[in-house]
Amino acid sequence: MKKYDVAVIGGGFAGTAAALAAARNGAKVILVEKANCLGGAACNCLVNPFMPYKIRVGEKKVPISTGIFKEIHEKLEERGAMRHEGFLEEELKYVLQEMVEREGIELLFHAYIFAAEKKDGKVCSVSLATRSGVVTLEADLFIDASGDAQLAYLAGCPTVLGRESDHLCQPMTLCFRVGNVDVDAFLASREKLKIAHAQALAAGELMNPRENILLFKMPIPNVLHFNTTRVVKLDPTSPEEVTKAELLARKQVYEIYDFMKKHADGLENSFLMMTAAEIGVRESRMIVGDHVLTEQDCLALTKFEDAIAACNYDIDIHNPEGTGTHIYSFPRGEYYTIPYRSLIPKDADNLLVAGRCISSDHTAQASYRIMPTVCCIGEAAGVAAALAKRDGVGVREINVTELQTTLKNSGAFIGI
Ligand SMILES: Cc1cc2nc3c(=O)[nH]c(=O)nc-3n(C[C@H](O)[C@H](O)[C@H](O)COP(=O)(O)OP(=O)(O)OC[C@H]3O[C@@H](n4cnc5c(N)ncnc54)[C@H](O)[C@@H]3O)c2cc1C
Repeated sequence: MKKYDVAVIGGGFAGTAAALAAARNGAKVILVEKANCLGGAACNCLVNPFMPYKIRVGEKKVPISTGIFKEIHEKLEERGAMRHEGFLEEELKYVLQEMVEREGIELLFHAYIFAAEKKDGKVCSVSLATRSGVVTLEADLFIDASGDAQLAYLAGCPTVLGRESDHLCQPMTLCFRVGNVDVDAFLASREKLKIAHAQALAAGELMNPRENILLFKMPIPNVLHFNTTRVVKLDPTSPEEVTKAELLARKQVYEIYDFMKKHADGLENSFLMMTAAEIGVRESRMIVGDHVLTEQDCLALTKFEDAIAACNYDIDIHNPEGTGTHIYSFPRGEYYTIPYRSLIPKDADNLLVAGRCISSDHTAQASYRIMPTVCCIGEAAGVAAALAKRDGVGVREINVTELQTTLKNSGAFIGI
C-alpha cells in the first residue's frame, strides 16, 4: 500500500490549490480525482466565469483572492485564455496540470473514493474504485476537497445537508453552450425574449422554474454560455435523485434552446454545442467543524483571529424550491473572513476539508462557494497539512500564526 504525507481527494480549485500548497511546503502529496482533469466544477460542470473577488478601495478594485488563485489567473491571461473574468476551461485544465506536475505531485485520475478507515480519531486509509479494482492509500494527513464532503462523510464525521429548515439544497444546474450565434443580434433581442419568457413562465408553459435566462459571453467568438437550467428539491448526494436531476436538466436545456430560437434573434444558424459532463451542484453536504461559519458572521464582516481567506461575494441563493434568487451584496469595500477552524471536521485529528463543503450554514455557503474563494481555502488547507506533517501534530495543534504568516509570505490575502 502506498503511503503519502498528504492525500488530497478532489481536484477542483480547492483540491488543486491544497495539493500545490502542501507540496510547496515540503509534503509528499497525492491528488486523487474521479474525472480525467483538474479544475473540478469549472471543467466537469462548465462553470464560468469567476465571480467577483475584488473590493473597491477609492477608485481602484483590489483583489482579495490572491495567492495561488492569482497565479492561475495570470497563467490563463498569459495564454490568452481570459476575457474579463470568463476563461477557457481547456486552457485551465492544462495550466493546472502543469503547475501540479512541476511540484512533483502524484496524480491519480479515474479514481473514485468510496470508503475510509478511521482509528482512534485518525483517518488511516482511503479506498478508491479504479480501472484495476480497489486501490487503497495511506497518508498522515488527508484533505477532503470533494465538494460533497465525501471523505469526511465516509470517515464518519458529522455532516449536514442543505438549508437548516428542510435540508433542501440550492438548485442543481446543467450548464450548456450554444455555438454559431450572432451574439450582437441575440443581445439586441433580449428585451423581447425577456417579455416572452416572463409570459410563458406565468402561464405555466415552462418546466424550468428559473425566473430569467442567465447567460454569459465566452472568450470564444459566436458562443454563448448558459447557466440557466434549474432542478429543485432533489438531493445531490442521492444517486437516484442525481440521475433524475441530470435527465430533467437535459430536458430543460432543449426547452430553453427551442424557446430562445422562437423568441430571440441571432440563433438562426446556431447549434447546441455542448452540455456539461456533469450537472453542477451548488450545495450538498457540509461538515460540522470546530467553527460553523454563519450568516451572522458574514453580515458582521467578522475578521477572525484564525482567518485564512477573505470573501465579499454576494450571498447568492438560488431558490431551492423554484422561482427566484435572493441576493445580498456586502457594503462597498468590505469583506468577511473564513476561520481555519471551519476547515476542521469534528471527530478527526488528521483531516481538513476545503472548498464548498467547509463547516458553515446554508446562507454563508451561498457566498464563499465561488471559485476564487474556494481556491484560497484550499491553499490554506494545503499549508496547514504540510505544517502538521512537519511538526508531527494533529490539525488542531498546528501553529496558526505560522500558517497565516506562510500564507501571507506566499502572496495570499487573508483579511487580517
Ligand atoms: C451551476 C453552477 C454555477 C456556478 N457559477 C459560478 C460562477 O459563475 N462563478 C464562480 O466563481 N463560481 C460559481 N459556482 C460555484 C463554484 O463553481 C463551486 O462552488 C466551486 O467550483 C467548488 O469548488 P471545489 O473545489 O470546492 O469543488 P469542485 O470544483 O466540485 O471539485 C471537487 C472535485 O472532487 C472530485 N470528486 C468528487 N467526488 C469524488 C470522489 N468520490 N472521488 C474522487 N473525486 C471526487 C470531483 O470530480 C471534482 O473534480 C457555480 C456552481 C454551480 C454548480
